[in-house]
Amino acid sequence: MKVLKFGGTSVGSAGRMKHVAELIADGEAKIVVLSAMSGTTNKLLQISEYIRLGNHTGASDILRELKFKYRNECNDLKIDYATIKPFFAELQKMCLSAYTTQIEKNIVSYGELISTTMMATYMVQQGHDAILMPALNYMRLNSHGEPDFNETERLLRNQLEELGSHRYIITQGFICRNPEGEIDNLHRGGSDYTASIIGALIDAQEIQIWTDIDGMHNNDPRYVEGTKPVHNLSFDEAAELAYFGAKILHPTCILPAKIHNIPVRLLNTMMPEAQGTYIDDHILHGTIKAVAAKDGIFVIRIQSDRMLMAYGFLSRVFEIFEKYCTPIDLITTSEVAVSMSIDNNSQLKSIISELKTLGTVSVESNMSIISVVGDLTPNNSGVEATILSALKDIPVRMISYGGSEHNISLLVSSEHKIPALKALNKSLF
Ligand code: ADP
Ligand code: ASP
Ligand code: MG
Repeated sequence: MKVLKFGGTSVGSAGRMKHVAELIADGEAKIVVLSAMSGTTNKLLQISEYIRLGNHTGASDILRELKFKYRNECNDLKIDYATIKPFFAELQKMCLSAYTTQIEKNIVSYGELISTTMMATYMVQQGHDAILMPALNYMRLNSHGEPDFNETERLLRNQLEELGSHRYIITQGFICRNPEGEIDNLHRGGSDYTASIIGALIDAQEIQIWTDIDGMHNNDPRYVEGTKPVHNLSFDEAAELAYFGAKILHPTCILPAKIHNIPVRLLNTMMPEAQGTYIDDHILHGTIKAVAAKDGIFVIRIQSDRMLMAYGFLSRVFEIFEKYCTPIDLITTSEVAVSMSIDNNSQLKSIISELKTLGTVSVESNMSIISVVGDLTPNNSGVEATILSALKDIPVRMISYGGSEHNISLLVSSEHKIPALKALNKSLF
């Protein structure tokens, strides 16, 4: 069985939904993961922001606009608006309630609840053997806020058994429950993750991520002109690109597929015949595949004479990051200093105050990591020189090389990100 995921743009209008329904209904049994219609998650977040600010009228106004849009979409699909009306009644109640982070998570879950209900209703009405499988019944997080694979597998198996045999099973991406049973989510773009988790747990034949572009491009098409699709990637290459900013994939969604060795295909809903990108465990030597960039990076530098000839210094540094559950992305060291980059600054104050007991600490914000992904083994010599000479006019702040055989990451100030991406595009591709 295959697992197919369609993103927000793919289901962004009634017309698009009809087209996706045709792609789904090819006779082959499948599980289909859907995102919210494009723009809806942002609107729902705007509603909860208004609630947080105490502007309940503002929240209700946005909801009214959404309702109007969805009524029209239902009319276009020729499905009864009454099937999704209860969701809007619930949202209206929430618009008037007091803000909590839980209310925000509840509100934001409605995008996927509504889109999947519309699709399942439409498909059944078209005479297809489709059924809805509620993600809130099986997708679970553990106490660290990460997917609980064991519990999700158990619940998913129960759900599939309960549903019985149906050709097209439609489920929500993104949304889940925490160990307390409250509604939660897999973070922005998390529908990809839902698809790869399901794919891994049911040992799917393939996971397909259908989106608005013909696969992973060799550079970020939002900033660089003339980018091209990369037809083959290894799991590790795709994971690095996703983690380091290639928005087409959720940062961690490749991992479950890699562990279970399930190929992932990236396909374009608007151009279904295009080859797209095929991701599996094959490594193609001798080529550089793509460049990606990740913003919002902080660099922490700690300088200390105590590092000189000492052992155990780095472990004390790392313990502090571990204590505050903050992962380090890049790290470079010299005999008297260590620089580290992080993208989560929620615990930055506490981290800095503890690091100060070890040395002099400085922090810089508004940085971007540029990652070049492909064959960076010694056999593919000369690539590093090409990369560095491409960036000869750009102040590079950190270079991380040798950590993996398929990635070199460079840190630049965010204002230099686009010029850096363009310069690398010219030299590498
Ligand atoms: P969906 O809503 O289907 O999940 P996303 O917007 O999350 O779609 O991801 C697709 C978008 O990712 C593309 O429209 C493109 O702008 C962006 N993107 C960023 N980097 C890349 C890349 N390297 N290759 C392809 N798309 C990329
Ligand atoms: N709807 C969610 C978002 O906009 C999840 C997703 O689209 O993957 O982030
Ligand atoms: Mg996405």
